[in-house]
Amino acid sequence: MSTLLTVAVFDGDGIGPEIMAPTVAILDQLQQRSEHYALEFEHLPAGAKHFAATGESLPAQSLESARSADAVLLSAMGLPDVRYKDGTEISPQIELRKAMNLFAGVRPVRIIHGQNTPLALTDLHAKNQVIDFVLIRESTEGLFHTQGVGEVTEDYATETLKITKHTSEKLFRFAFNLAEQRRANGRGPGKVTCVDKANVFRAFAFFRKLFDQEAKQHPQLKSDHAYVDATALWMVQKPWIFDVMVTENMFGDILSDLGAGLMGGLGLAPSADIGEHHAVFQPCHGSAPDIAGKNIANPFAMLLSAAMMLEWLAEQHPISALREDGQRLSNAVYKTLSEGTTITSDIGGKASTTQAADAVWKNL
Ligand code: NAD
Repeated sequence: MSTLLTVAVFDGDGIGPEIMAPTVAILDQLQQRSEHYALEFEHLPAGAKHFAATGESLPAQSLESARSADAVLLSAMGLPDVRYKDGTEISPQIELRKAMNLFAGVRPVRIIHGQNTPLALTDLHAKNQVIDFVLIRESTEGLFHTQGVGEVTEDYATETLKITKHTSEKLFRFAFNLAEQRRANGRGPGKVTCVDKANVFRAFAFFRKLFDQEAKQHPQLKSDHAYVDATALWMVQKPWIFDVMVTENMFGDILSDLGAGLMGGLGLAPSADIGEHHAVFQPCHGSAPDIAGKNIANPFAMLLSAAMMLEWLAEQHPISALREDGQRLSNAVYKTLSEGTTITSDIGGKASTTQAADAVWKNL
């Protein structure tokens, strides 16, 4: 029996549609070959281009359809010159996180053999170190709490950082469960690191106290703390010490780009924004207007995000074929990456978006 699942698709702005097209094509091929599941794609309007044309960044109908879908796949939205009157950019991807209560931003950082990275990998391999960790960014509150409503006067401007017990408890439970799952799959020692600034801010001391309370519920796992500034240093100097890291929204925003940098660039960084009932899968990068329309954008982060979507769907529905296809898709991306012959220019190759995605499909 085949289970029908709907996927809401936001093609987005800039390079968004260029990386989404081959991703949906590959997912479509996979579902056509499966006897166990079928995917139905619903393309929904939203984004900067849509806002410029209609005055709406995320139409209510699109949000409603995204809510009723089994999963949401999003490329990238926003364009630097499309802004609200207050000077901020339109960012429906952030609106979606809040509207669908997607509190856990999951940002895997993985460096495989042969991958182009600014780190001295030869040393790492000599020491037999593996870089494979996950950063979890709280995605609905923190310093984004007053997004769009911060106070601006002639003389000063303020934004408010908010940490709630309710969201933090869910977030930490999610982090420990992920560490457990990773350990069961032979990935990581089962350790969660709370990244904060508890030495300076009371809100982070509160955050840390809630983390410690959750840690007590998981005696079989390890837990520790790190200040965010030291974390930035260690992510560069000894990234192999991390397994699952969990942090506030703005810290996570910044550290996840550092993680992408370690992997060789934003074009390789996938992500998932996960809540209790919904999830959105999207690359960490933006709409890259500087390279849009040239068919040179790296599709790997988008494809890896789609692989995460299949694996997440497998958790929601008891269909092991979804997990297997997700893992096969992810392995095919990493195989293409390690072969290094059909990769895009951002990571040192010469291939077009289409050629790189075709190579993944061939490896799949
Ligand atoms: P960006 O991530 O779009 O680009 C930063 C740099 O990385 C650029 O040089 C770009 O060419 C390169 N890059 C990004 N993705 C790439 C890919 N797949 N392949 C090859 N190169 C890639 O960040 P930005 O320039 O700061 O932002 C551009 C727009 O995207 C802005 O309007 C911003 O608000 C928006 N944005 C959206 C999201 C999202 O939708 N989640 C995230 C970040 C930024």
